[in-house]
Amino acid sequence: MLNFIDLPLGLQYFFISCFGAIFGSFANVIILRLPEGKSVVRPASHCPKCKAKIKWSQNIPIVSWIFLKGKCSVCKNSISFRYPLVEIIMTVGFCALFWLHGWNFYLLEHLILYFGLVTVSFIDLDHMIIPDSFSLGGILIGLLGSLLNPGRTFLQSLGGILMGGGFLWAVAYFYYIWRKKEGMGGGDIKLLAWIGAVLGWKAIPFVILSSSLTGSIVGLLVSVRSKEGMASVIPFGPYLAFGAILYIFLGENTMNWYFGFFLPGL
Ligand SMILES: [Zn+2]
Repeated sequence: MLNFIDLPLGLQYFFISCFGAIFGSFANVIILRLPEGKSVVRPASHCPKCKAKIKWSQNIPIVSWIFLKGKCSVCKNSISFRYPLVEIIMTVGFCALFWLHGWNFYLLEHLILYFGLVTVSFIDLDHMIIPDSFSLGGILIGLLGSLLNPGRTFLQSLGGILMGGGFLWAVAYFYYIWRKKEGMGGGDIKLLAWIGAVLGWKAIPFVILSSSLTGSIVGLLVSVRSKEGMASVIPFGPYLAFGAILYIFLGENTMNWYFGFFLPGL
């Protein structure tokens, strides 16, 4: 049997890219249909405006959008740049994770996490919700992964759920006591619990700090440009997702060193 690892590295990256683009295309379908309660399998892809069915040859991720110059081949209405953008984000991320991990269990776990985080980020931007099917499903997959991946422990995963979910729950609770209105949704609490389940409790401080920081910077830029100011509600999910991805690429070694220094043996 042909062994994938024996293929030339360029060809391995080519296959990972295709894999990423296909999952990006699937993410687009989920982002569009899941919040509306529609099936993500049927009907087949169609133009959102004229409802014309999209031929398979015109449904190739990224490539088709470029060849069609961003227009439906039937009604010539423009097709949002969001579709190829999500496919590009997924392709680049899948390649970067392969570059980081090579073939191991972390690659599988982080591909699943990355796919989920990108998908729920766009759903959160559109609808201000994070579907439970992703966050609660992600928590289960994270716990299961900690039992299967020899590099992680169940306690790190469980600790991540409690620390991530617990911290944001406390923030939401005290904000409610203080301002008498809800500031943080339950979706964000479950999202950070999911991130903790997959990345472990050591990731949580880094994810909270980096997401608050990027959230504040973007929030300030937006409030300068819009009249509503900081009071305008910005979904926090995409920042948490960004913080988690940043942790995978930058934070993990730093945090392991940090905790190893101050809390050796944990
Ligand atoms: Zn059309």
